[in-house]
Formats: sequence, structure tokens, C-alpha cells
Amino acid sequence: MTPRMNPRWNGQFSCFDLVAKTEEHRHSIVPVGDFQIGGGEFVVMAGPCAVESEAQLLQTAETVAAAGARILRGGAYKPRSSPYAFQGLGVEGLKLLRKASVATGLAIITEVMSEEDVDLIAEYADVMQVGTRSMENYALLEALGGCGRPVLLKRGMTATLEELLRSAHVVAMAGNPHIILCERGIRTFETATRNTLDIAAVPVLKTVSHLPVIVDPSHAAGVRSLVPVLSRAATVVGADGLLVEVHPAPEQAMSDGNQSLTFGEFRRMMADLQPYIELQQESRQLRPQLLVAGGAD
Ligand code: PEP
Ligand code: MN
Repeated sequence: MTPRMNPRWNGQFSCFDLVAKTEEHRHSIVPVGDFQIGGGEFVVMAGPCAVESEAQLLQTAETVAAAGARILRGGAYKPRSSPYAFQGLGVEGLKLLRKASVATGLAIITEVMSEEDVDLIAEYADVMQVGTRSMENYALLEALGGCGRPVLLKRGMTATLEELLRSAHVVAMAGNPHIILCERGIRTFETATRNTLDIAAVPVLKTVSHLPVIVDPSHAAGVRSLVPVLSRAATVVGADGLLVEVHPAPEQAMSDGNQSLTFGEFRRMMADLQPYIELQQESRQLRPQLLVAGGAD
């Protein structure tokens, strides 16, 4: 019998078999270097929105590594709301990411915006980030099928969960099963936050799909003061990790300074999250009996 994506979930998600949770395939574990995403460890990816300079990146890498992050984030190719805004350092930025990785042992995640850049970025990145604006760039998604690196697929800011899973299915169909989903907030009528963090997306996705799910509280909030509390929410709803923006001097950042944590704030957040992460890990052991909040499994 062909496995079907949770047919009981409001009749949705019924046609993306490659990413569907089934009895036989409940959880995907995505290998990144010497660790895994989706295997029980809560994996924090942190760093600046954009790679700006060697000093900025190395200081940030050392700080986030010491605080427990596993992956350094930093855009070298930036999709910006304005064509006049900083567009990223390009290859120079990729080289700085590699340098920071060698110095700290952190893996690297960085955004790829075009299928033409896939091969180059795959030489430097451990995880290929697909941004919210690219979720439906099918030429890019297909090119990522053969890149040999895991893909972090961000939810489009106006995309439904069904549409997110459709894009994940495209990557899987193109040959790459190593996909991590990322909830980063969606556009709603609310303007108090930059986007609205759809926290329910985490348990829904984890109920219908075997893919790991992480949360980006920075782009959801748009302001740094909300990032720690949204991160805490992500741990308790069962996310597999976080993608967080951190900058040595957020007020001078070339992009997304308002939502970037200072080093001190990041350290404090990581320490404060620890008991919630442990609680979540303990309840994961009991999950077989508790599973299916939502009555869907
Ligand atoms: C980013 O991670 O810096 C970014 C541009 O994110 P998003 O695609 O979610 O806006
Ligand atoms: Mn950003």
C-alpha cells in the first residue's frame, strides 16, 4: 500500500509521500558533520544575519560556539527588501565562513538564492539555507536535489504548511532526502511583530512529516527582546533546534540589527533554555505513548 501523508489531518497533506510520516518512517535524522539534526539533540544555529567582516564573524563564531551552538549562520548572498541595501560579500563571505569554521569547529549554514550558485556554496556550506523568498523557486529546489548537502527549507512568508511540504517534496524527489523544515514567521494582519510566529506549525509538521523542524525566532519577532521567549516556546513544542541571529554590535549591523542578540543576551538565552531542553528531551522518551497530540497518527 502506498503510504499517505496523514489523511486524517483535515484531509490535507495527502500527496507528499516522500516527506510523509508513516509507521515505517517516523523520524528523519539529518547528519551534519559529526552530529545530527532530528536525532534528539536540540541543535542551535547562530550567527550574524550577514557576514560583514573577518573580525565580526570570528568573534561571533567563538562566542556562539562557547555558548553551545553547533552551527554558525551568516549570509554571504543576501536577499534584501531593498535593492539598495547591502547584498552580502559573496565568495569573500564564504571564505570567511570557512575560516571561522576551521577556527571553532562549528559547521556552516548559509543561504543559496540561485541555482547557479549551488555548486560553489556547497563547497563551503555544511547546510544549504533556502530563504523564505525562495521557497517556491523550483529551479533552485531541483538543483539542491543533487548538491550533496542537507537543505534547510524556510517556510515562505505567505506559504501554507501544505505548500512548505510541497517544496520539501520537490527537493526529496530531486534526490536529496536530507531536509530540515524551518518556521520563521508568516505575514498576518499583526504589525507589532515583523512576522507572526506560527508556533503550531511545529507540532503539525512533526505529526504529518518525518522531517526535523526548527524555529527561527529572529525573523519572526523582528525585535531582539522577544527572541529568548520565542526560543523557549520552540523548545517546549518539540522543535529540533533554532536558527538565531547574533551580532557583536547589533546597532551597527548591516542587516537585521534590531532582531540580533548581543553576545551577552545569547549566552544568557542559552543558559536559560537548558532546563526546557532537558524537559523536552525527557518527554521525548515518553513520546511513543503521548504522540499524536492532534489525533492524527
Ligand atoms: C536570514 O536568515 O537572514 C533570512 C534572510 O531569512 P528569511 O529568508 O527567513 O527572511
Ligand atoms: Mn536576517
